[in-house]
Amino acid sequence: MRFDVVSLFPDMFRILTGQGVVGRALERGSAELHLWNPRDYTQDPHRTVDDRPYGGGPGMVMKVEPLQAAIEDAKHAAPDSKVAYVTPQGRTLVQDTIAEIAAEPGWILIAGRYEGIDERLVERYVDAEWSIGDYVVSGGELPAMVIMDAVMRLLPGTLRHKDSARTDSYVDGLLDFPHYTRPEVIAGARVPQVLLSGNHRAIARWRLRQALGRTWLRRPDLLERRGLSGEEKALLDEFIQARRDAE
Ligand code: SAM
Repeated sequence: MRFDVVSLFPDMFRILTGQGVVGRALERGSAELHLWNPRDYTQDPHRTVDDRPYGGGPGMVMKVEPLQAAIEDAKHAAPDSKVAYVTPQGRTLVQDTIAEIAAEPGWILIAGRYEGIDERLVERYVDAEWSIGDYVVSGGELPAMVIMDAVMRLLPGTLRHKDSARTDSYVDGLLDFPHYTRPEVIAGARVPQVLLSGNHRAIARWRLRQALGRTWLRRPDLLERRGLSGEEKALLDEFIQARRDAE
């Protein structure tokens, strides 16, 4: 999978590429990252990358010509890739969208700065607009990194434990179950007994019950959307009953 990112701050991507899951994906060659800086396409001595907005008002807009030249070069280098603009006005990303993104051969991500980019460039080049949530950050670099991290951990061979993404929150429409590690007791708080039992069937049932219960408590909207099998319904009833009994 190939990512090309158009960004005024290519150095920011070092925090992503040097380590962890993404570092491993890039090192193994299951993903590629190419950076295109509009500043490299400026023609003036000041290397200007912003411009005043038509109509006046506060803030600047990314200068059109260098941005357009960077997008054109990225498209030329990655002809099979679609183009996405990361923007708070885009479709809010959820795990299903990440899977859709991962299914494409590549993406050119445009990271905005200032008040954003000229609308005519959006109309001309952009196939998708994505938001990382209903809030505004100062540039598209962090959103682009969030997307690439979420996508690359789905690529085969990237995660050390290949099944670990399978039980992650949202993958099957549920939140993940709670996790525990050593020691067995911390300040009097014990690990749930079933996890020490070695009974894999009982552990799997307990985990599913917890995942269903957590989702019911924290994100009932997910349960409504997903629906439950007969067995899942019974496990959720057990979870709810146990909570009532504990009250
Ligand atoms: N004036 C823009 C608006 O209100 O829609 C916000 C501009 S923001 C300061 C600068 C850049 O950060 C945007 O062009 C976009 O690329 C990026 N950005 C900010 N918040 C984002 C979000 N929630 N999701 C994706 N990108 C975001």
